[in-house]
This record gives sequence, structure tokens and C-alpha cells, in this order.
Amino acid sequence: RTFTVPTVELPAGQQIPALGQGTWGLGEDPAYHDDEIAALRTGLDLEMTIIDTAEMYGDGTAEQLVGDAVFDRRDDAFIVTKVLPSHAGRPDTLRACEASLHRLRTDYIDLYLLHWPSPVPLDETVDAFTTLQEQGKIRFWGVSNFDGVDLMELTAVPDGGSVQTDQVLYNLAHRGIEWDLLPACQRGGPLIMAYSPFDHRGTVLRHPTVAAVADRHGVTPAQVAIAWVLRQDGVSTIPKASTPEHTRENHGALAVRLDLEDYAALDRAFPPPDGPRPLEMI
Ligand code: NDP
Repeated sequence: RTFTVPTVELPAGQQIPALGQGTWGLGEDPAYHDDEIAALRTGLDLEMTIIDTAEMYGDGTAEQLVGDAVFDRRDDAFIVTKVLPSHAGRPDTLRACEASLHRLRTDYIDLYLLHWPSPVPLDETVDAFTTLQEQGKIRFWGVSNFDGVDLMELTAVPDGGSVQTDQVLYNLAHRGIEWDLLPACQRGGPLIMAYSPFDHRGTVLRHPTVAAVADRHGVTPAQVAIAWVLRQDGVSTIPKASTPEHTRENHGALAVRLDLEDYAALDRAFPPPDGPRPLEMI
């Protein structure tokens, strides 16, 4: 399909929108169900088609919410879900995928990720992903919270080079990946999918410098935070929103053009890394 929103390309050649939607914390309280469904469906209407979830979130309730949001428009969504490291063994991954498919009310997952590195040898997990791909149950697979060394180990196992994404923490307050992981991925590695663009609890949104940049452009802090992440080539991001209003506001970030003055002010408030840093995660 073609998009009017900016897209990024997976190594396999598939175009996906640069801006998607997260779901951590959604689906846990029935009182918010309708708002949360409306938030996700508004995002689909706006072509924020990536919906990121995980078997871990709410012990499956986030996946169920996603299933409710997309059941009558499955092909509008690019569903990303994740297998827990404790399920990274081959039989466990195959079982976990079936359970996710059931909760998601679909017969395929677009992108299936290993949630963070596991003690299970990587060749076993990759073997399970390859089987799931052959069975048509997943279209692509990737990883999350992998640092550069983890990625090197991954690409050394059979079929490990088929990894499509590394989903990692990246926002104004956590810039460590700019030192090495991000440039390495931009040079032909997996696509970086930036999680927690507002730093999970929204702390960057309350920072005075972010507010000042937002005021300069007549936009909101959330829109600045997203536009800043998306200034990087080959990066997508997945803010989580519980209401259609927040989803629409986040989509509005695509119209924001930050300039050199903004970048300089933000660099002073949130300095870029000056050396290698261990990969941070939430
Ligand atoms: P985010 O950085 O996306 O921040 C979410 C918070 O921002 C919520 O409190 C939300 O409030 C608020 N918010 C959303 N839109 C706006 C807005 N326009 N204005 C003001 N506040 C807003 O945090 P997450 O940690 O949820 O990260 C995003 C997604 O990334 C997750 O949901 C998950 O899918 C993924 N993730 C993956 C991880 C991994 O290990 N792979 C780890 C962490 C996250 P409200 O809900 O009220 O809209």
C-alpha cells in the first residue's frame, strides 16, 4: 500500500509508517476500553498503522484490546508483538505465538520480536521465527533491547541476518544509541524502532526547554518530542496514547519542522552522548 505519512523501509524492503502507536498499559481497565479502542482506530485512520504490543503487557490484555480494535480492519494495521525471553526456546516460542494470534483475533502477526535478550541460544529462537514465517503466522521478525554486541551475535547465527528491527529506548533524555547503535543500524542494519518517545511517564514533556521550543512553533511538547526522534533517518517511533485527542496530537508532530536553533537548545538541555554507553532500557 502507499502512505501519505512519511515511511521507513525495513531491510526486507517493506515500507512502514515512521509513526505508529504503543499499547503498554492499555487494555488493563474496562472503564477506559472505549476510549482506548477509539485512540487506536483514530491512529489507523491517520495511517499510524504500526500497533506495538506484547504478550507481557497486562498479561495479554493489551493484545486483546488490539484484537478488538482491528478485527474488522485487520489489513489496515501492521501489528508488532513480542515474545518474552522466558518463551524464547523453540517450542515455547511456537506456543506463545499461537496464544498471541488468538488474543489478537488474527491469523498473522506482521512483525514478531524477542522482547529482550534471553539465555536461550539465539539460533533456537531464530529457528522458531523462521518456522513461523514459513507457516505464514508471522511476516517478519526482529528483536528489542539488543545492543551492538547482541546484534553481532544474532547476525552470526543461521538466518540471523533476517532481523528487521531493533526496538530500543530512544528519546531526548536517553540518547545513548546515537553514539554507536543508531549509526550502525543506519548503515544497513535493522531499523531502529524508538520506544517511549516521551520517556514513558512524560517527563520530557514537562521540561522547560521542550516547552519553549514548542511555544516557538505554536505546537505542543509532545509534538516536539516526536519530531525530534523522527529527525533521524531510518527511525520509527511508537508513542502510546489512551485517547483519540492524544493520538491526533501525536499525528500532528509530522507537520513540525525543527530548525538548527531548536536542535542547539535541545542539545544544551539534553546533551548527546560523548562516548559509548550501555544500552538503557525500561
Ligand atoms: P511514551 O513515551 O509513549 O509515553 C506515554 C505517556 O505519554 C502516557 O502517559 C500518555 O498518556 C502520554 N501521552 C501520549 N500522548 C500524549 C500527548 N499528545 N500529550 C501529552 N501526553 C501524552 O511511553 P511508553 O513507555 O508507553 O512507550 C511507547 C510504547 O513503546 C509502549 O506503549 C510500548 O508499546 C513500547 N515499549 C516497548 C518497550 C520494549 O521493551 N520493547 C519498553 C517500553 C515501551 P495517555 O495514556 O493518557 O494518552
